[in-house]
Amino acid sequence: MRHYRIASIPADGIGPEVIAAGLEVLEALAARDGGFVLDVDHYDWSSAYYRKHGVFMPDDGLAILKQADAIYFGAVGAQDVPDHISLWGLRLPICQGFDQYANIRPTRVLPGVVSPLRDVGPGDLDWLIVRENSEGEYSGHGGRAHRGLPEEVATEVAIFTRVGVERIMRYAFASARKRPRQHLTVVTKSNAQKFGLVLWDEIALEVAADFPDVTWDKELVDAMTMRMVRKPQSVDTVVATNLHADILSDLAAALAGSLGVAPTGNVDPSRRYPSMFEPIHGSAFDITGKGIANPVASFWTASLMLEHLGEARAAAALMVAVEQVCAAGILTPDVGGNATTKEVTRAMVEAIKGGNLG
Ligand code: ATP
Repeated sequence: MRHYRIASIPADGIGPEVIAAGLEVLEALAARDGGFVLDVDHYDWSSAYYRKHGVFMPDDGLAILKQADAIYFGAVGAQDVPDHISLWGLRLPICQGFDQYANIRPTRVLPGVVSPLRDVGPGDLDWLIVRENSEGEYSGHGGRAHRGLPEEVATEVAIFTRVGVERIMRYAFASARKRPRQHLTVVTKSNAQKFGLVLWDEIALEVAADFPDVTWDKELVDAMTMRMVRKPQSVDTVVATNLHADILSDLAAALAGSLGVAPTGNVDPSRRYPSMFEPIHGSAFDITGKGIANPVASFWTASLMLEHLGEARAAAALMVAVEQVCAAGILTPDVGGNATTKEVTRAMVEAIKGGNLG
């Protein structure tokens, strides 16, 4: 029997609702598979924890998480805590402390879910966005001087290193190689950002030489937004900087029908540290506690986590169950249905227990 230790951090807003749903589905899946067991450790690190202790996680938080094989994360952010404090208090210390430099964001139009793009259905939009997750525009370098005075100044420095760019480029080419179309689009803004992003272009050219079986092209980020909307079929795997891919992947999630179905993984490809898997969406205060949060993003997230752990068969079965449940019209309101989080979860558990998942 294969054992995996999962650290669960549901945190804020709808995080606890969708992570509980995901854990229920994972448990059903492990029971069905029979080959592995998930030992789940629960952590209450969140904005509530911050209000009580003045920090988002204990001093030895990373040392505790390091024992895990993977981290299953909900959402962080509360209305009374500034976003930059919650982000730098919990998610970013984990991503940076564990060198999770590859952020992967698969996007597909699921059956039963309607894309806002006319004539785009399942199969027309099937993307993998690879986001550089350790440096670039979110390096945390900069400062402020003359606070509050008319001459106040703030700098926000984007850092691009050869090591950082090369490793994400290799990861992106290798990811594209595993996909049916074997095509990569390298996104930059190297016409205007003439240092760091010209370095991206140069390294892309160098790394491409090692992947002759992967076709690739380049796109400026502004043009990329149009291409994603106008010619979604022309896009397959995409690699972009921390900021650019952050924005493009929200666009991708919206084009796939809802933020409520979009998953992501913060991966340390070297496997020195545990990787962290989470829905793309945030706390969603408007629907917190109403029981209607879409749990599909957290199911898909769980599938990414299983794949990373080496349980490819269970990961694929989970996605078949998701597609069956969506195709049957058991959908939450954000994707046009009227089912609750619990009803979707129950349908998933039934599909996993009794269904033919290939
Ligand atoms: P944060 O500041 O933490 O990112 P937010 O509320 O500003 O939170 P999101 O939570 O990312 O932003 O989502 C924006 C909107 O999308 C939400 O207000 C909600 O209406 C919708 N949404 C997001 N996730 C889901 C979900 N899982 N199910 C249903 N609707 C969702």
